[in-house]
Amino acid sequence: MVDKTRVTHINEAEHKQLGPVVYWMSRDQRVNSNWALLYAIEKANEKNVPVYVVFSLFNPFLNAQPKHFQFLLNGLLSVERLCKEHGISFSILLGHPPSTISQFIADVDASLLVSDFDPLRIKRQWKNQLNNAIRIAHHEVDAHNIVPCRIVSPKLEYAAYTFRPKITKRLPIYLVGFPSIPLVTSKVYAKPADWQAVFEYVGLNNNPVHVDYFNSGEDFAIAALERFINSNLTGYNKQRNNPLANGQSGLSPYLHFGQLSAQHVAIEVTRANVPTEDKSSFLEELIVRRELSDNFCYYNPDYDSTSGFHRWAQDTHSTHRLDEREYTYPLSEFEQARTHDNLWNAAQLEMVKTGKMHGYLRMYWAKKILEWTLSPEQAMEFAIHLNDKYSLDGRDPNGYAGIAWSIGGVHDRAWATRPVFGKIRYMNRNGCKRKFDVEAYIATVYSL
Ligand SMILES: Cc1cc2nc3c(=O)[nH]c(=O)nc-3n(C[C@H](O)[C@H](O)[C@H](O)COP(=O)(O)OP(=O)(O)OC[C@H]3O[C@@H](n4cnc5c(N)ncnc54)[C@H](O)[C@@H]3O)c2cc1C
Repeated sequence: MVDKTRVTHINEAEHKQLGPVVYWMSRDQRVNSNWALLYAIEKANEKNVPVYVVFSLFNPFLNAQPKHFQFLLNGLLSVERLCKEHGISFSILLGHPPSTISQFIADVDASLLVSDFDPLRIKRQWKNQLNNAIRIAHHEVDAHNIVPCRIVSPKLEYAAYTFRPKITKRLPIYLVGFPSIPLVTSKVYAKPADWQAVFEYVGLNNNPVHVDYFNSGEDFAIAALERFINSNLTGYNKQRNNPLANGQSGLSPYLHFGQLSAQHVAIEVTRANVPTEDKSSFLEELIVRRELSDNFCYYNPDYDSTSGFHRWAQDTHSTHRLDEREYTYPLSEFEQARTHDNLWNAAQLEMVKTGKMHGYLRMYWAKKILEWTLSPEQAMEFAIHLNDKYSLDGRDPNGYAGIAWSIGGVHDRAWATRPVFGKIRYMNRNGCKRKFDVEAYIATVYSL
């Protein structure tokens, strides 16, 4: 049922003995359209053993804030409900995943661990630590990418133009519909989660955070997708760079937390009765650009620092390191949106207030951080800090790739040389003015 090439055996042990299957749900926090869950059920049913789904909540995590935990936990409430509807056991563990998951495996005497693929360093470290602590087989399923990251390319891709043909030729094999969730043949019921303890663990006990602009959970994610297809997909090609037009899908928080499957989105968009140019333009972002970001983070361990840039970009930064900066700001001035540029400040405020900055402005925002900091290293540090702290969709390969593109020319090419930027592509306010009504955008953000 689940294509074998989606699955990687990431330790030496074999799946031989009888015993439950544990699916450690981490990046893909959904029940529907989830290849990792389908694989866990398939393996469990083959031996007529139970399947346990577990999520290990860890705090602190990559600068995640109360609103991120609120969004995540609201989503897990619906995972719990949907698991129950399908007769699948779901538990939340609190603490460092290598310890909690290995303990859970011992407690239920599991025979197989299934996890979902994630290219970020912290997740790979956890998996290595976990593999040292367990003796059962550990199978990792790429449930996030349409074409599994390791299959689409075995190496770091230079740019979208090298990646695009590789992914496009594999789409007929991988871009297929999901089977429905099979009946679990050996049922088991976990103790219901102690939600009060869970919320307390991340400091949300008496203090629920209202996430204003995005309702969390699989059902809301599907509803957001339907709204986008019905109302905004037509015109996406022309409107996606206009922050006043509501021209983007707004799906990135759902995709980031894995509440929505990109494969499901791609199938629904492909079927939609809208102009081809809009579908193609959207699928380019959803498939090529998004999965290129996973390629970047998986094959480049320095995805979040200047040493991860191409040689030409590192050289141009060295040449322009001492160029005079007209403005420089400490992190706190950026964070409080107190630069001299009211467009930059509005973009920063949009992110702080809504949990998401418009995609076009994200490029402008990060490039200005390069222009107004003391070094590219500091620019990377500030941009990642702010993006991960304030964006609901932050702490994501797309964020690290987007920031590296803006500050370090990753997946881009060399441009005409300018002060501070060197050969890194430059952006300015006039470019924004050509795309949208800058003053109207600023007024809109301040009125939120
Ligand atoms: C400096 C900078 C920081 C960024 N930080 C993040 C981040 O933290 N998280 C994040 O998900 N994206 C990030 N992006 C990429 C992109 O801006 C967002 O994915 C997009 O704006 C999300 O809004 P949407 O879902 O409405 O996008 P739509 O235009 O509706 O696109 C649909 C989906 O396609 C994917 N996508 C769109 N544009 C890109 C892109 N340029 N690169 C990779 N995938 C893309 C996303 O998964 C997105 O949800 C960043 C880009 C830059 C330049």
